[in-house]
Amino acid sequence: MKAELIAVGTELLLGQIVNSNAQYLSGECATIGVDVYFQTVVGDNPERLVQALAIAESRADLIICTGGLGPTQDDLTKDVLAERLNRKLVVDRPAMDKMTSFFKVRKMEMVASNARQAMTLEGSVTLVNDTGLAVGTAVSQEGKHYILLPGPPKEMKPMFRDYALPWIRSIMTDEVPLFSKMLKFAGIGESNLEHALLDLIHEQTDPTIAPYAKEGEVTIRLTSRAKTESEAFAKMEQVEEMIQQRVGEYLYAKEDVTMEQVIYTTLKQEGKTLAVAESCSGGLLSDLLTAIPGSSAVFRGGVVSYSNELKKVFLGVPAELLEGEGAPGAVSRETARAMAEGLLARAGTDYAVSITGVAGPEPSEGKPVGLVYFGIACRGQDTEVMEARYNGSRETIKLKTAKAALYHLWRRLGTSH
Ligand code: ATP
Repeated sequence: MKAELIAVGTELLLGQIVNSNAQYLSGECATIGVDVYFQTVVGDNPERLVQALAIAESRADLIICTGGLGPTQDDLTKDVLAERLNRKLVVDRPAMDKMTSFFKVRKMEMVASNARQAMTLEGSVTLVNDTGLAVGTAVSQEGKHYILLPGPPKEMKPMFRDYALPWIRSIMTDEVPLFSKMLKFAGIGESNLEHALLDLIHEQTDPTIAPYAKEGEVTIRLTSRAKTESEAFAKMEQVEEMIQQRVGEYLYAKEDVTMEQVIYTTLKQEGKTLAVAESCSGGLLSDLLTAIPGSSAVFRGGVVSYSNELKKVFLGVPAELLEGEGAPGAVSRETARAMAEGLLARAGTDYAVSITGVAGPEPSEGKPVGLVYFGIACRGQDTEVMEARYNGSRETIKLKTAKAALYHLWRRLGTSH
């Protein structure tokens, strides 16, 4: 099935927001075998939206619009499609009831324009908005399929995943659907991973094996065509085993989760706690960990000990280690060890992770940009220290460092294999 995405919004054309909805929807469509051939952006203008719809109808079977479902005058997507398909706009009762009680509970007046958000096209399928008020719409007419989704990603994504995707699968009756699965790796670069799997990647046609890289982690997407999900997953299992044999030591999850989520789950299951001492990553590791809802159950906190002074005061790193003539210095194995052990003793946690390095752009203490040391201290066990060298901008080095610290911790937690 060929699809075209139409993002509606003048803000997008003015460069005030990035069309991240298109990125998300293209990725999701790819996983179920819907081919997105075109992405269009059009302003909040009815004539131009009609033009965009006409062009999309000429070259796609499925047209997915985002944006313009809200209550304001410039939110026109539903009205334009209703007129184009010669259908009335009708009230979706459950959505209207939800909206009425939303305003009532908050003791707010519901102005008439709000009702627009509960409207949908006559004879269409309503796509429920579990995280907002404007309902979406799915409708088929004359061989073309249309989906209208809200603009805000926090509303659009759950609506797509929970309501639009099943609808799309239901209209793809002639096609054998695609199913996909993510394998997540850390501690190995994309090129090394690809090199290790090159023959599999080239030989495999079903499932296909596609690697994707982000800073500090690599994802492999396995995609298979089958009548049912279980049939597809059975095919994937064989390939998964071969991948695991070759690069299993770097595989941290068989689903689309982050390393910080895996670490959080493991620590929680084991009833263990964690604290971090960061120098060159400037708090980024703490930021990643605290992005997980409920992380306070395992993450006790962090010290951004950027200066030698704070490394001494808060972590008890000996002055002679940091400042001694010809001594190791702040960026050294010894300091990473002292930071982790000092924090473990002070925070009273089960694990303490330390980071010290040179984020750049200038070298420090005569040490090169990108040199980083990690310390992992664990109650009752020997402290481990790791060294790494990273390339890139200051921002990249900070991010790679924070991600690598998570990877070292994960290894230490023994969650591999
Ligand atoms: P609302 O009820 O908030 O008005 P809407 O469905 O009418 O929702 P828009 O008014 O078009 O959507 O956009 C609302 C907000 O959603 C935008 O300000 C922007 O933050 C976000 N948004 C809209 N379209 C996109 C897009 N294509 N990619 C990313 N974000 C978007």
